[in-house]
Amino acid sequence: MRELFPESGQVTTASARAAGSAGEAGALGAGGRAVSVAVAANVWRTFDYLWPEVLREPAPARASLEPQPRPPVEPQRGQRVRVPFGRGNRMTLGFITDTQPAPGTRELKAVAELLDTASQFDETLWKLGEWISQYYLTPLGIVLAAMVPSAVGRRRPQSEAAAFLTSRRADWPASLGARQKRLLDELHEAARQGIEPLPVEGLLRHSGAVRASLRGLADRGLIRLETRPIQLGTTDRHVEEDPFPLNAEQQAVMKAMEGKLSGGFSTTLLYGVTGSGKTEVYVRAIRQVVAAGKQAILLAPEIALATQTLTRLLKRLPRVAVLHSALGAAERAFYYQQIRDGQAAVVVGPRSAVFAPARRLGLIIVDEEHEPTYKQDNAPRYHARDVAVMRGALCGVPVMLGSATPSLESLRNVQLKRYEMLRLPRRVRGLPMPTLQVVHLRRELQPGRIELIGRTLTLKIAAALDRRQQVILLMNRRGYASYVFCPSCRWMLTCDHCTRAMVFHQATQLVMCHYCQHTALLPQRCPACGRKLLLFGMGIQRIESELLRKFPAARVARMDSDTMTSPRQFRKVLDGFAEGAIDVLLGTQMVAKGLDFPRVSLVGVVSADTSLAIPDFRASERTFQLVVQVAGRAGRSDLPGEVVVQTLHPEEPAIRFAAAQDYDSFAAWELPHRLETNLPPYSRMARFVVRHGDPLKAQAACETLAERIAPLLADERVVVIGPQPAIVRKIKNLFRFQLLLVCAKPFAIQQKLHPAFESLCRNLGAEVTADVDPVVLL
Ligand code: ADP
Ligand code: ZN
Repeated sequence: MRELFPESGQVTTASARAAGSAGEAGALGAGGRAVSVAVAANVWRTFDYLWPEVLREPAPARASLEPQPRPPVEPQRGQRVRVPFGRGNRMTLGFITDTQPAPGTRELKAVAELLDTASQFDETLWKLGEWISQYYLTPLGIVLAAMVPSAVGRRRPQSEAAAFLTSRRADWPASLGARQKRLLDELHEAARQGIEPLPVEGLLRHSGAVRASLRGLADRGLIRLETRPIQLGTTDRHVEEDPFPLNAEQQAVMKAMEGKLSGGFSTTLLYGVTGSGKTEVYVRAIRQVVAAGKQAILLAPEIALATQTLTRLLKRLPRVAVLHSALGAAERAFYYQQIRDGQAAVVVGPRSAVFAPARRLGLIIVDEEHEPTYKQDNAPRYHARDVAVMRGALCGVPVMLGSATPSLESLRNVQLKRYEMLRLPRRVRGLPMPTLQVVHLRRELQPGRIELIGRTLTLKIAAALDRRQQVILLMNRRGYASYVFCPSCRWMLTCDHCTRAMVFHQATQLVMCHYCQHTALLPQRCPACGRKLLLFGMGIQRIESELLRKFPAARVARMDSDTMTSPRQFRKVLDGFAEGAIDVLLGTQMVAKGLDFPRVSLVGVVSADTSLAIPDFRASERTFQLVVQVAGRAGRSDLPGEVVVQTLHPEEPAIRFAAAQDYDSFAAWELPHRLETNLPPYSRMARFVVRHGDPLKAQAACETLAERIAPLLADERVVVIGPQPAIVRKIKNLFRFQLLLVCAKPFAIQQKLHPAFESLCRNLGAEVTADVDPVVLL
């Protein structure tokens, strides 16, 4: 028999070997109990396990060495357990959903380990988990596992390995590998920011290096590795005074919020133009709730969490726990404990922070609610904004959604009176909105040269640099989007059916229209002048070299997912930009979000067409949002802001309305199209993707799935699109077929499909993923 009891308050890892070794079926006498467990695996029903009576409360802190008789732990719904699962009896995480007397007749496997002394879920979080499982068609165990970080409650390790930099940059040998170099860079950068040493766990994760590389560096004497006690951050900080009074419009918003903030469920959409002082409204609202003894959750896109706006925000809020992705497991668990205990009053984090176990929740805010990154792209595929609203409803607390470009879904909810809209129509301190100029890229380029930064933008960059002001350039690269172009006569391949630029696909060697899906062979020569054609990829790296060629003296930083491998690197670039050590910040959509730099006077959108070309009904909406958001980075202080938008489709409404920064007109133009075509926000979608290494099998499985689904939905007015090949036909050698269900009533599909899901997928011989309210249709 073996019992492991950690210190008090921590988790029990009471091993249940006594009741028959794990995996063996334990026979049970009268009076025994069983529990139903939702395992964190792709299975839809719960499994019953024997509840061994040796799983006991953890020992008190100063337990005497004599074993004290302790009462057995009552199994509780929501406690985490480890259970032998499947044919191999692999130890799998699970959650107790129910308890009952054990059946005398059946042989059950026994719970192997109890991970929690108490449930991880209070009533509302549990209900939220059940709702997510139903709504997003995901097994409950997978949902619950996503709601609690795995390290929570685990016995906190007392020490961790840490790396110190012991060499100077000049001493680094040239022979180092790329990963080792990255490790050293990371350490160097952290030291420069006054952070030393770095925990090895995070260092390896961010650099993609393996332990051996690190040891290699230590052997060469370039770094030192050491085990040291874990130091945890604290949520206690001095709170700064309000730096300025709210302006009249902000006051009006606060007044409208006043009644709501004192309690009860409500959803408010704060539509405020860029630089209108939304963040300041969040601060005041949060403070009000905290002053009343309650907790608040502020969700922000991951990238915004690395910006100075966050730093500024933190100075103004009391007892904040920031749950960013760079946290180590121990730190994350620590903050969860602080939130649960109420020591942390404010939680700031990306989408998963919507599950923070705040027991005295009083407010949820979702900043940049239109951001597609709020949708998780693996199971459970939840949308954090919608989960936030649901949590608000379950807990009876107000929810605030903020954006300069609200999603059409949220706007529709305003029209349906589910949300109330409040506006901040002007920038603070009477600052003007930036002026936008749309330029036609084809007219901007000199014949015979392949350039992506046209004449107007080039001149304006030069002028801004002359004035010692800063520039942000957006290049939202789509890896596969290359256009077919004649450098001699500037002819461009466009679709016969839609007159839009065709895109060359490497994989198929065909050109394709992303609007009507028309495909064609790549022409050999330019039909206009007979000369050789060029494919030009609009990649961000090309822009970078073009910038360096045109402005050799400019200090350029590139910010994309290739260069930003850790939050610290992100910080480094943003700090450099803030300090004026960088003149031009070139980036993907990362640069569109939440940056607030007073010396930025020019913003350039290198190609507004990259997002317009996504084969998705939301392409226009995305383009509009992206252009307006990035334009909002200009002119945020007394410097007037200028924005140049380069495009091949200047007549495109999304671009015209973005240029006028006219959200209302954009919505008025786009919504009727969605209504006509029965697309969200006028309908709901559920997408099923079936994958198999053999395309015929993938197709057959998708057809079977469609046949099985059809009778279930016979009574609903559901439009079924497909089976059809997904736009990205093959990922990682698996062929993908999709089925799209469109229905008017939310939830109608799920109520029918959820109980049947397991049988729908049975013996399909292919993998199926369900995505409800998909934001990506590739
Ligand atoms: P948004 O989130 O709407 O883009 P912010 O809240 O970041 O706007 O505000 C933009 C800038 O204006 C920030 O630097 C902020 O400190 C400042 N600001 C906000 N409210 C006021 C105010 N009432 N008076 C003066 N400055 C303000
Ligand atoms: Zn077309």
